[in-house]
Amino acid sequence: MLENLKKLSRSVSKISTWLSCDKIPWVIAGPCSAESEQQVISTARALARSAHVNVFRAGIWKPRTRPNTFEGVGKIGLEWLKAVRAETALLTTTEVASARHVELCLDHDVDILWVGARTTVNPFLVQEIADVLKGVDIPVLVKNPVNAELGLWLGAIERLHHAGIRKLAAIHRGFSTYVEMEYRNYPNWQIPIELKRLVPSLPLICDPSHIGGSREFIEPISQTALDLGIEGLMIETHIDPDRALSDSRQQITPDVLIEMLDRLRIRNAQIADRHVKGQMAHLRAQISHVDAQIIQDLADRMKWVEQIGKLKQQHNIPVLQIDRWENLLRDHMAKACQLGLDSEFVKSVFELIHAQAVKRQL
Ligand code: PEP
Ligand code: MN
Repeated sequence: MLENLKKLSRSVSKISTWLSCDKIPWVIAGPCSAESEQQVISTARALARSAHVNVFRAGIWKPRTRPNTFEGVGKIGLEWLKAVRAETALLTTTEVASARHVELCLDHDVDILWVGARTTVNPFLVQEIADVLKGVDIPVLVKNPVNAELGLWLGAIERLHHAGIRKLAAIHRGFSTYVEMEYRNYPNWQIPIELKRLVPSLPLICDPSHIGGSREFIEPISQTALDLGIEGLMIETHIDPDRALSDSRQQITPDVLIEMLDRLRIRNAQIADRHVKGQMAHLRAQISHVDAQIIQDLADRMKWVEQIGKLKQQHNIPVLQIDRWENLLRDHMAKACQLGLDSEFVKSVFELIHAQAVKRQL
């Protein structure tokens, strides 16, 4: 699999070949749904006033959780996107969930397509979209699947790549979870980070609107994304958010978006200052040294574990002794607290170590 992904990574087009994006972040903005020609055009006009915004988004077909809610205006909305394109310098994008959607978008000159989270989970639908895109040169953005499974996300990207699509990017919009939390979707940042590690040249875009689900979270989530090296943002923007027909709570006005984009701190991946470079190298050496020590300590710990395992076997003692495990966890978590470490983090680390230790003794 790794070899295939490396190949994919080598052949993905640079984002600059399909988006004039000399500044980070690249921004895709626009309403959750196209609702009326007036709403679409007025939102686009307000966004086009900012040089920060590169692409105008609007959902035409809306995958809603329940029926009898607004399910999008359908085909007519494609004419409104055409009008946006004619009037502003913005590229346009909308969500496609079937071969028919793709055909209609191609007929109406939509510039970029995106595959939504509820479609990425379904390999049949992704394949149908990929098949109809064979031989077509159009950028496609792939949202992560609703569930936290990197394989499905990669699979959708691979299916499009096999169909010949090279202008690809991934959108991180968070994952459904049964746990109550303040966000609408759990960010699970390690998943987009792992995607970036496996396919380094694939442009990555964060959608803080669907992660946060509420206006106040959009700025902090966007900042976290930039701090993690994510270079693009997709943000739902509506001329009158309170009256939006879908995702009203998470939409912001173009003015609020533009002010927010000005406040975001853009990190610099290239370190120009020699002194800072030297300091970084020194600190990294220290960290690597500690890491090597941790690995050595783990190896030593497992040696002792194997010895105790043998002793238990010889004397017919069970491998797992809950009292010992409970005491150990309690002591380690208390020690972690004293040292200013997050005790839940230390608990997770020791759960892994303990599971491995038990395995070694079986
Ligand atoms: C959207 O972008 O409006 C949308 C439906 O997103 P998602 O597929 O991430 O839920
Ligand atoms: Mn939405």
